[in-house]
Amino acid sequence: MTRLFAAGLAALMLAGFATPVDAEPRFAPIPQAVVADPARDPAHPADMAVFTVPTGGVRVNAMMYLASGDRPHPTMLMLHGFPGNETNIDLMQAVRRAGWNVMRINYRGSWGSPGKFSFAGSRADGEAALAFLRDPANVAKYRIDPSRIVVAGHSMGGFMAADAVAADPKAAGAILIDAWDIGKQKADLVDPTKRKAALEGLRENTPPLAGTSAELLAREIETTSAKLDLEALSARIADRPLLLIGAEHAGAPTTRKLAAAARQAQNSPKGTLTEAYMDTDHSFSDSRIALEAEVIRWLGQFDPASAKVGTPGIPLKAAYDETNPFARIIRGELPIFKVYEDDQVLAFMDYAPAEPGHVLVISKTSKARNLLEISPQDLSRLMAVAARVGQAQVDGLGVAGFTIVQNNGVGQSVPHLHIHVIPRVAGKPLMFVENAKGDPKEIEATAAKIRGAMK
Ligand code: AMP
Repeated sequence: MTRLFAAGLAALMLAGFATPVDAEPRFAPIPQAVVADPARDPAHPADMAVFTVPTGGVRVNAMMYLASGDRPHPTMLMLHGFPGNETNIDLMQAVRRAGWNVMRINYRGSWGSPGKFSFAGSRADGEAALAFLRDPANVAKYRIDPSRIVVAGHSMGGFMAADAVAADPKAAGAILIDAWDIGKQKADLVDPTKRKAALEGLRENTPPLAGTSAELLAREIETTSAKLDLEALSARIADRPLLLIGAEHAGAPTTRKLAAAARQAQNSPKGTLTEAYMDTDHSFSDSRIALEAEVIRWLGQFDPASAKVGTPGIPLKAAYDETNPFARIIRGELPIFKVYEDDQVLAFMDYAPAEPGHVLVISKTSKARNLLEISPQDLSRLMAVAARVGQAQVDGLGVAGFTIVQNNGVGQSVPHLHIHVIPRVAGKPLMFVENAKGDPKEIEATAAKIRGAMK
């Protein structure tokens, strides 16, 4: 994947831990929302709403993934392609996990929505969907923050997203994913050597569409190509944050042209342009995780919490901090569920387990912050206890195995060397993210089982 940042804010937001702010991080961080579920909010759980949106005399099918929590949520409208076989639901779910509401419509005449499909109709439907999100009744009902509504679209939806954002000066920004510059299709349609293939390209996409045909759509492109010019639209929305993502094996050349048009038109300090190009096809078949990460990192400029990274860190080198939680635990200042203790080593339950039964093993005598500072003697004492804890997890909890994790700098939050001993359920992946705190009663009961099995 190649990445380019044309403007300051995005580069600043994306500058990773310990990276100079003006440099692109060598490895862009993967936001936690891409790989981990948030804790359920029992009072305001994540939910799904289904409804219809009035547009052009019909009501088109629509739904919204509602984020959990009672704060007003930033909200993303996701507009699908032509006809929309690639639903991008994984992207919508990831963005919802990041704390955003995500709404989807099916344009009139597509996928069971009433009416006749056309590009003009789809434009109006995208605009109507955005107006729906702005309606004060819907703002209250779905806990929408109207100052942070972003419109995203894939392929033809990229065009519709740009159109909707151009029509609404209050829309916060746009995401165009391998967008289709529909108007440019005219060149192929009027070229006798290319017309047949261009018509076939339209025809193979019409089965889920009602009230139209390849010929009708071709005529619409030929007669209204100026209105379907995405370069012009990209320039119009360059006054706001814009994320352009191109697929190298499909529409990347188009995306580069859109970027050039937007860059030339940039006339506002708010108009930041972010470009990313991925080594994949039009459906991002090889780059789903990269796509989600790119979108969520970019959304972080509107809501920093949503782009939270699961594995931040602390400096590798620093003086030992006597107030760190594990120093306090050793001094008996913080409560723990103890699994094992001798004159040098203490093993206790992690209060936010990656898996039930997660134990931390620390030295009571060494002030090593990480593996680079500990003596081989102290380390061997720790590892010997870690192995016994692992065996006790297998014996006491009935798990198939265990994994040892030890973070240094990146991924480390407590500056006192500690060995994670994590029970493993066969086939269940281990997530390296910040976990929610567990139920103390359950942790205590699990601790008793491990303690009882310690040899
Ligand atoms: P690391 O991110 O590798 O530094 O791991 C630190 C671990 O310590 C995390 O898994 C935290 O959940 C855990 N932790 C931090 N404070 C406490 C505490 N007071 N009691 C139990 N576990 C803790």
